[in-house]
Amino acid sequence: MEEIIIATKNMGKMKEFTRMLSPLGYSVISAKDAGFTEEVEETGATFAENAAIKARAICKACGKAAIGDDSGLCVDSLGGAPGIYSARYAGDGHDDEANIVKLLKNMRDVPEGERSAHFECAIVCAFPDGSEICARGRCDGEILYEKHGKGGFGYDPIFGVSCGKSFGELSPEEKDRISHRGKALRELVTLLEAKEKA
Ligand code: IMP
Repeated sequence: MEEIIIATKNMGKMKEFTRMLSPLGYSVISAKDAGFTEEVEETGATFAENAAIKARAICKACGKAAIGDDSGLCVDSLGGAPGIYSARYAGDGHDDEANIVKLLKNMRDVPEGERSAHFECAIVCAFPDGSEICARGRCDGEILYEKHGKGGFGYDPIFGVSCGKSFGELSPEEKDRISHRGKALRELVTLLEAKEKA
């Protein structure tokens, strides 16, 4: 069985990747279990560049196929912010709650109809032969005025989608079906299958 390394410390993401890639015959392992403990600096200007930087670093160090992903929230009225800085919008060492508080404050005077935003996700798989595949996903919505729901993580409680609920009010399965990450993961599976057949 071919091993594939995932560049994440997040157990939730590990589970998601394992669920999607095991049926394709991949044995999914974390970077830590592959012996890679270095901190890779995300110096890219886009989600795809950051995903590629992580995937390439681990693939090079371990000599095995490696997957890196990067995602974030882009708000139109804020010129695309927080974007690639979504995790540390309120500053290094701050948590999801602080990020939400800062975003709601910055959006305080933005009227209904001008609160559009989207989540983006890029997933890059780097192979030892130097080839790469890149899958992307996007989910459109709007920034709510206050938090709704207790599910999910990050900005989920203030991201409203077309069904009238926030991401924080959806079950994991409902979110997977429409989320940026769900879409990118499904595209990744399609691209991996096509690569195997080629
Ligand atoms: P990363 O891809 O794990 O680096 O995530 C970057 C940041 O984007 C997270 O810390 C969250 O703040 C935000 N983010 C990415 N995806 C989601 C999501 O599905 N829901 C809520 N926040 C998200």
